[in-house]
Amino acid sequence: MTPFAYARAGDLAEAVALGAEPGTRFVAGGTNLVDLMKYFVEAPPRVVDINALSLRAIEDLDGGGLRLGGLATNADTAHDPRVQARYPVLASAILAGASAQLRNAATNGGNLNQRTRCYYFYAIDTPCNKRAPGSGCGAIGGFNRIHAIQGASEHCIATHPSDMCVALLALDATVRVTGPGGERVIAIDDYHRLPGDEPWRDTTLQPGEIVTAIDLPAEGYAAHHSYLKMRDRQSYAFALVSVAAVMRVEDGVIREGRIAMGGMAHKPWRVAQADALLAGKPVDDDFADVADALMTGARGYGANDFKLELAPATIRRACRQAAGGTPQIQSDKRIV
Ligand SMILES: Cc1cc2nc3c(=O)[nH]c(=O)nc-3n(C[C@H](O)[C@H](O)[C@H](O)COP(=O)(O)OP(=O)(O)OC[C@H]3O[C@@H](n4cnc5c(N)ncnc54)[C@H](O)[C@@H]3O)c2cc1C
Ligand code: SF4
Repeated sequence: MTPFAYARAGDLAEAVALGAEPGTRFVAGGTNLVDLMKYFVEAPPRVVDINALSLRAIEDLDGGGLRLGGLATNADTAHDPRVQARYPVLASAILAGASAQLRNAATNGGNLNQRTRCYYFYAIDTPCNKRAPGSGCGAIGGFNRIHAIQGASEHCIATHPSDMCVALLALDATVRVTGPGGERVIAIDDYHRLPGDEPWRDTTLQPGEIVTAIDLPAEGYAAHHSYLKMRDRQSYAFALVSVAAVMRVEDGVIREGRIAMGGMAHKPWRVAQADALLAGKPVDDDFADVADALMTGARGYGANDFKLELAPATIRRACRQAAGGTPQIQSDKRIV
């Protein structure tokens, strides 16, 4: 590991001041950042430990929403009784990710900011525009089985790896951040970005900004939801394709719904036209048009061509599970 300076911030103001210094990285659970430092992918001159900040609470909001602290662990979030009862799609997505040990250490702010699992990003002797801007992309024309089929660019075809963020997008969460410019609120759909010609920028977070909380709106779609994750093993593996489907159903008809996807793009993927198609459908629809809308413009890069069939099948199955009130249960290792 490259030598680095370490500082422990006592409060938010101190963390923001320390974080504003160029090259500084915040560390929370460390489950991603420390790995990247050990692999020499990241070599920050200074690391600021933010674990002493008072950002671990999960609190009810006026109006029925819920605020998840930026330093609340993924485990505390998934097992919180209010998340389980009111936002089960989020609990399910978190529990589909990583391992129990990792979820005990990983934080919500860290999960939002975890970096891609592209093999070439981790292999420092290979070209990678995200790790070394201008060096090229090893995955295009290389082994790209886990890579994007939507929203990619000629500079990068990496996917965003988080499960939690897929559910947050389906729920229309907002991210609260504080930095040198003060506090601001970012819609989750605007938080992560497509690679374009700057693939090294994963998010719209500005230097020195800290994620203080994630706010969930009052509607959690507890009765009609599913998080369906397709992966090489049924546990402890990142998504090849995942779908968070949430719906409001009345009298056997879907009144509104939202579909968000993981493993598709550089950010959690959502298509307004697909959401619009859900409204007014009977719950026993086959959801083929919804899948078509989400797949519009999709393309494979060779080794990931299988996703062009896997993704629409996963969308349709997740929609059927959500509409039928029969969500995928993460402790059940079968895909039902
Ligand atoms: C073996 C393994 C398997 C995994 N499998 C999955 C999986 O299946 N699904 C899944 O979703 N995830 C998976 N993960 C990823 C795991 O969820 C993330 O590593 C974790 O959520 C990161 O949280 P952290 O608190 O440890 O972040 P850290 O490693 O501390 O930080 C990660 C990044 O976030 C930044 N950061 C941290 N907190 C904040 C904050 N409050 N504000 C601003 N920036 C911040 C850091 O500066 C750093 O850049 C896996 C990880 C491992 C190691
Ligand atoms: S896909 Fe992106 S992260 Fe992977 S090698 Fe290409 S530029 Fe790097």
